[in-house]
Amino acid sequence: MQWHKKNPKLLKIIVESLREHYPDLWLDIDKQSVRVRGSFPVTANNKIIDRFKVLIEFRSNYPKSLPRVFEVGGRIPHLRDRHINEIDVPAYCTKKGSVCLFIAEEASKYHPEGISFVDFLKGPVNDFFLWQIEYELTGKASVKGRDHGAGGTIEYYKERIGTDDLDQIIRFVDYIARDAKGHWPCYCGSGQRMKCCHYTKILNCKKEVSRNLAKASRWSLLEYQKSGNLIKRSFGIGSLPGDVIKGPILEK
Ligand SMILES: [Zn+2]
Repeated sequence: MQWHKKNPKLLKIIVESLREHYPDLWLDIDKQSVRVRGSFPVTANNKIIDRFKVLIEFRSNYPKSLPRVFEVGGRIPHLRDRHINEIDVPAYCTKKGSVCLFIAEEASKYHPEGISFVDFLKGPVNDFFLWQIEYELTGKASVKGRDHGAGGTIEYYKERIGTDDLDQIIRFVDYIARDAKGHWPCYCGSGQRMKCCHYTKILNCKKEVSRNLAKASRWSLLEYQKSGNLIKRSFGIGSLPGDVIKGPILEK
């Protein structure tokens, strides 16, 4: 069942808050889904500085899942350096052509449980378009976001476990994906059992990263590794030939 049928109150709140805060966005409902379209005003210091044409798609299990945002005016080139997703990865909630607001591992930071739709627009969505405007004007952005795709995923795990050794990062992600237990040998390669070594890092990470998400990231990192790290920066899953490579097959 679609979320808006289960929760008509939430739908009403969204319609009313759009009318108040984003009068140039409207919501339409068809048999398949709920979408928001229109002209998105980008604000900086409480002033509208520019606008982008958008389409925002709610998935059937909203608000558990992230709405997908598309820029539909043809203004942002579909390149990985511009943080546009090139392939569908279900576990990442991404679809070909949707904008990449943040890496999936950090969804709970930027789209925490209970965040309103308007706050989502005012926060990460507005930030995304601000970044694009600056990129258009200067060819780079002063706010350094995470790299797109595997590059960003590596940055995230590097911060979590304190190493940029790719093999170790992949072992760590694999352990999250396989729900590693304390008696397993530590991912760090010390030869110790994890409970005597780095088990807390695994336990803490599990609070934020689900097994399905870790499976998707393991796949992305292995593809990255297979590529021989030819393109170190901004190499994402998206730079693979999108029509040939499918997203990871997820176990239920
Ligand atoms: Zn260890």
